[in-house]
This record gives sequence, structure tokens and C-alpha cells, in this order.
Amino acid sequence: MSRLSVAPYFPFRRVKLMGQEFLAENRVFIHMRPSKQFRPICHFCGGPTSVLHGWEERAIRDLDLARQTVFLRCRYRKVFCPTCQKTRVEDLEFFHPYQRVTKRMATYIHELCQVMTIQEVSEHLGLDWKTIKEIDKVFLEAKFGSPKLEGLQILAIDEIAIKKRFFYMTVVLDYQTGRIVWMGEGRSYETLASFFQLMSPEQLLGLEAIALDMWDPYLKAIREFTPHVKIVFDLYHVVAGFNKVIDAVRNLEYRKASQSQRKIFKGSKFLLLMNKHRIKSQKARQHLNRLLALNKTLAKLYILKEKLKTLWTYRLPHNAQKALNDWCRLARTIRYPLVRSFAKQLQRYSYGIINHCSYPINSAKIEGSNNKIKVIKRKAYGFHDLRYFTLKAIQAFAH
Ligand SMILES: [Zn+2]
Repeated sequence: MSRLSVAPYFPFRRVKLMGQEFLAENRVFIHMRPSKQFRPICHFCGGPTSVLHGWEERAIRDLDLARQTVFLRCRYRKVFCPTCQKTRVEDLEFFHPYQRVTKRMATYIHELCQVMTIQEVSEHLGLDWKTIKEIDKVFLEAKFGSPKLEGLQILAIDEIAIKKRFFYMTVVLDYQTGRIVWMGEGRSYETLASFFQLMSPEQLLGLEAIALDMWDPYLKAIREFTPHVKIVFDLYHVVAGFNKVIDAVRNLEYRKASQSQRKIFKGSKFLLLMNKHRIKSQKARQHLNRLLALNKTLAKLYILKEKLKTLWTYRLPHNAQKALNDWCRLARTIRYPLVRSFAKQLQRYSYGIINHCSYPINSAKIEGSNNKIKVIKRKAYGFHDLRYFTLKAIQAFAH
């Protein structure tokens, strides 16, 4: 008789292996029953149980073995737990009564979910999408479920569009470590307030600066919960806002242009919005120059765009303020209400640009985080389960 045994592959102490059964399509049942050496314990509280209420049986998916899909067909007891004062399922340790896979299979699924999409894991293991997601979520909830709020000093607050113009989420980043601290539904005052409400008075006092977009509901929450904090408007958001203004003006100017001029407008949108040094091709540069020579308003806006970025390069508040005033003066010479109201807004919020002198927040870092979250969103762990998306995002940013 062969001394080869499959027993060592199933090192579960509370059960005995009874036999194996090969089925069609490379599937194997390993039959098990509870070992008589152990008294049944309650899966809920871990305490010893008294009265046997009956038997159940279930096939639980385990890790594959030699390309066979393995199911552990196991009998287990329903017992009365004197501690819980309830009928409970006994704990056999290798599976959780509410999951259809063994604990080690669940761990494997969680590991796969870090490098593959749910769909890929689902196809790879022949388990359904929802099962995979729920198993991964249990692990993520245990690791990242409660926000870590200790020692925060500088935050970056951002919003991410889940459904453009309809639904947003607020993302709070620890600027220093780059990790996501918290995510919440919406982008209202209440959203951010509910984050601050999680923090203790000491933790709130520990905050020094917050970088964000010029968004009044957030500003209101910051002023209310952390009035001592320095507000810094981040270049990435302000430039993105001004790019929208440029694009809108370009469309209005296009309508005024003659047929021959319109040809020059065509395909110029991204040339106007792109960083100048990123335009590599000679042809594209010439195209941009032709447009700027043709249209004085766009030429002025283009200069304003380049100058806008320099407002974040000052180290002395006095110089930053002067440059900002100059910028607004130039912007006001453009007769579009859109441009003027942008200048007005910038003037009103100038403190947040001046504060950049003391808290030089790196805009590339914030833009990078924003893009990274978008990629996670696109992989669409998504929209059906915002909690899962939140946990996946926190995991991706954790070190
Ligand atoms: Zn119990």
C-alpha cells in the first residue's frame, strides 16, 4: 500500500479526513467530520458548548490541489452555547460559518484582489463576482475600516466625481505620508463636518494646514472645526479652474470667428491647456502661435495662465500678494464676465495663496493622488459599492 497521503495538505486539527471522491470536471470532494478528541466550541464566543442540536453538512471550497478544484465536504454540529444562551454552529476553525470558502482560500482571494480585478479573480477561480468582492471586503474592513487619525498635521482635501455633476466623494489625504485618511459621500459642508467630528479635540488642534480647492462648503467646515488652521489653495485645483475659463472663452471666440479663422481654432483646445514645455512637436507649437497671433483675447488669457502658476513660487507673502494683484489687474482688462469673476474670486481667496509661502504644498503630489484615485475608480470596483471602492482606495495608498 502506498504511503502517500493527502492528509498533510489539510492540517486542520478539529476534523478528521474520512476519504476522497473524484467527480467530473476535475473536482474532488474531501470528506471530513469533527474529531472526537475535541469538545465542540461555539463559533461566536469560542466557549464550550453543552447540548447537541443536530448535524449539518456543507461543501466548502478550498485551495486547488494538483489542478483539481477541491471541496471539503464537512459535517458539523449545531449546538447549544450556555454563554450565548443560543443555538450556535460549532467552530471547526478552518472555515467561517457565513462563508462558502475555507479561511485559507479567503486569504488567497484577498491576495489576488490586490493585483487582479474582481472579474479576473472570479474567472480564474470559477467563483462569482459578488462572493469575491465580499470576501475581499471583509479583509479590507478589518485592516482599513476605521480611520487612523493620530498625528495628522497637514491635510489635502480633494473631491472625486463618481457620476459627473451628480455624485461626488470627498477624499481626505494625509499630505505628509500621502495616505488616504478618510473618504465620504458628497462634497458638502456636512460631508467634511462628519470627518472632523471623528477627530478628538487634541487631534483637531494638531492640524496646522489644509490644502484644497476654493470650495465654500469645505471652507465653512474648516473654519468651524479648525479655525486655527492655515488654508492653502493648491495650484493644481486653481489652474484646473482657470483652464475651464480658457476653454469657455475659446468656444465663445470660435463662434465670433470667420470660416477661415475657425480652421485655426480647430484642434487647439489641448494646445491652449497643455503645459507649454510639454508641447514637443514643431507643428503643434506653430499651430498654437498662429492662434495666439490671430486672437488677442486668447493671447492675453494664455499669458495669464502662465503667470498664474508663478503665484505659487513666492517665498515672501508681500511679494506673492503684489504678484496676485498684478495678475487680477491684467485679468480685469478682458471683457468676459467669466474671466472677471475668476479674478474676483482669486482676490477674495488670496489668503490661501499667500499661505502657500509658509506651507509650500507640492501640487504635483496632489495631482498624482487625484489621478491615482481616478484609475482605481475606472477599474470599477466601484459604483455599486462605495464602501468597497473606499476601502480599495485606502489600501492602494497605504504603505
Ligand atoms: Zn457562544
